[in-house]
Amino acid sequence: MANLILLGPPGAGKGTQSRVLTEKFGLVQLSTGDLLRDAVEKGTDAGKAAQDVMQAGGLVSDDIVIAIVSDRLDRPDTANGVIFDGFPRTVAQAQALDTLLTEKAQTLDLVISLDVQDEAMIDRVSGRYTCAACGEGYHDTHKKPANPDTCDACGGHDFKRRADDNAETVAQRLAAYHAETAPLIAYYEGKGLLKHIDAMGDIKAISNELAAAVAQEDA
Ligand code: AMP
Repeated sequence: MANLILLGPPGAGKGTQSRVLTEKFGLVQLSTGDLLRDAVEKGTDAGKAAQDVMQAGGLVSDDIVIAIVSDRLDRPDTANGVIFDGFPRTVAQAQALDTLLTEKAQTLDLVISLDVQDEAMIDRVSGRYTCAACGEGYHDTHKKPANPDTCDACGGHDFKRRADDNAETVAQRLAAYHAETAPLIAYYEGKGLLKHIDAMGDIKAISNELAAAVAQEDA
């Protein structure tokens, strides 16, 4: 059992690497971005409040995000351990997570900072898309499917792009990361939980490095 956080700016590979780790370790991925997009699609009150902020690349209010995470942690599948992807993004959220985990008699075991260069992130994010059926990730220039209309992983023919994955919004999201989220590196360093991983290279090599770090905690 391990609860861990993947920290990093948009495009660092949090989602991709979370997917790999869920399969390897039986952990649950808790992506606040996914939960918020779901809320927007369903038209819930939280979704309505979040929609414009997300579209502009800003941060949704701590209250909304913390409530969504608290609800998700109440579901029994999280008992085996959670990978927090895109949460916390502010110090207030990090403090709320500490409280939530304490209430549930759980611990935070590891925080991994996926270290990348900003300049590469705009290109990475603005060219990305996923298979609508299985979620496999692709990129306009760096990772096209063998057949442009067919997902390599599942054979699906439907692909989707996020509304906020355009160059302008990505720049805003990067700015939000540096202003609000980067301070969490010092926060978790202070707690002795932080590990840095260079996330600019080969996806598989990064997965292996991450898996080794998680295995150490899981042992
Ligand atoms: P992501 O899928 O993690 O890139 O998140 C997409 C968007 O959802 C972000 O740009 C924010 O607008 C919003 N969002 C996701 N997670 C959080 C969070 N923990 N705190 C505030 N806003 C968030």
